[in-house]
Amino acid sequence: MATIASRLQAVKQRIEKTAKIPVALLAVSKTWPADAIKEAFDAGQKAFGESYVQEALEKMKVLSDLDLEWHFIGPIQSNKVKSIAAHFNWVHSIDREKIAKKLSESRSGMPPLQVCIQVNISGEASKSGAAPGEVLHLAQVIDGLQNLKLRGLMAIPEPTDDVKLQRARFAELRQLRDDLCEKGYHLDTLSMGMSDDMESAILEGSTMVRVGSAIFGSRQTT
Ligand SMILES: *Cc1c(COP(=O)(O)O)cnc(C)c1O
Repeated sequence: MATIASRLQAVKQRIEKTAKIPVALLAVSKTWPADAIKEAFDAGQKAFGESYVQEALEKMKVLSDLDLEWHFIGPIQSNKVKSIAAHFNWVHSIDREKIAKKLSESRSGMPPLQVCIQVNISGEASKSGAAPGEVLHLAQVIDGLQNLKLRGLMAIPEPTDDVKLQRARFAELRQLRDDLCEKGYHLDTLSMGMSDDMESAILEGSTMVRVGSAIFGSRQTT
């Protein structure tokens, strides 16, 4: 049976084979226990993505001795903003002004929270994400917030086996990032690509892939 360490290695090889620029690997550990994270950490992985606040906080408690980097990648409910701001290093899923402002307020006295705007590109799998037309305004808002550092954009396209379609959707996100860069924003992060479509995402300029099942196995609940 494949171990987490061997699957992690295989994912790194997939990234290396395709990437022409450095691509960071975020291990998406949602629904997996602290033990699985520890196993990945022992194999050299430091950055982990979680989608459910309560579940993540419990694992953080158990793993507090390890030097881990925590990324929040799920939908953000207002009543969870304080916990997210207090416990995570990154947030990939900001999609509205109100949440951005609350995150910044709740982050005061700490190093800036590294954030991405989640964009609802065509074929987005979830209803969350800012519309492409709202992204510039949201970037302006975040830029003015003291405790947030805008790093880039994130998207979750609907799964499809059509590689051309995968690439077209990722290209949309890259184009939006390039537009913002032309307007003077320094965005170094394109958070796109998951277990089944990371090659397409990397070919379209992804700088961070978020990979769950290819590392930990298929989830019991999704
Ligand atoms: C679950 C999840 C992933 C990982 O998906 P896999 O297909 O298991 O690699 C990536 N990004 C987000 C936002 C997720 O919720």
